[in-house]
Amino acid sequence: MTRPPDPAPAARLRARVFFAIWPAAVIARRLHKEGERAHGLTGGRRMRRDTLHLTLAFIGDIPRERLDALRAAADKVAFAPFTFRVDRIARWRHNHIVWAGASGLPEELESLVTQLNSALADGGFPVERRNFAAHVTLLRNARGELPAAELAPPIEWPVGEFVLVESDPRPEGAQYRVLQSWPGVFGSQS
Ligand code: ATP
Ligand code: MG
Repeated sequence: MTRPPDPAPAARLRARVFFAIWPAAVIARRLHKEGERAHGLTGGRRMRRDTLHLTLAFIGDIPRERLDALRAAADKVAFAPFTFRVDRIARWRHNHIVWAGASGLPEELESLVTQLNSALADGGFPVERRNFAAHVTLLRNARGELPAAELAPPIEWPVGEFVLVESDPRPEGAQYRVLQSWPGVFGSQS
């Protein structure tokens, strides 16, 4: 028996959502290239170039009618544009993820995540209790060892906005749709 196709995400009653920063194509290309290099050593599944992102806060499955409250929470966040210097590539053994990240967490990024989490908590949304680990997932199910390495030269990622994204889980990998973006404001207290 054939199942009817799943409804389009926007027609569903619930949405799987998260806040993220999304690289411009030129940065995504460089990140993707690093993933290719690592893949030669570790194997695994490469994330598609257009899906590469850094998750700031994962909300998960919520009723679609709560999206406005989520947007209102994000409206409270003030941040100044900054540059995220991606200078490391490594593999986590516990989940077999190869990721790109930074040796230091930029103050602005830390502030952005702290503000988001506090606005989410105020809005009654679940917040992550674990420490924030800024990373862009490049490979999943990467079984081979990868010695942590410096990226030389580092990737200078200009961050001018953050986005709210809906994730549509599919067998071939999640599909993402940006629902809204919030630009950084020069001179804002972050
Ligand atoms: P897939 O699950 O299909 O492999 P994915 O993990 O990218 O793809 P989602 O599970 O919808 O898709 O996750 C969206 C983003 O949120 C990803 O960056 C993912 O790493 C992150 N994420 C997912 N679950 C959590 C969680 N429990 N805590 C923190 N971040 C999460
Ligand atoms: Mg997932």
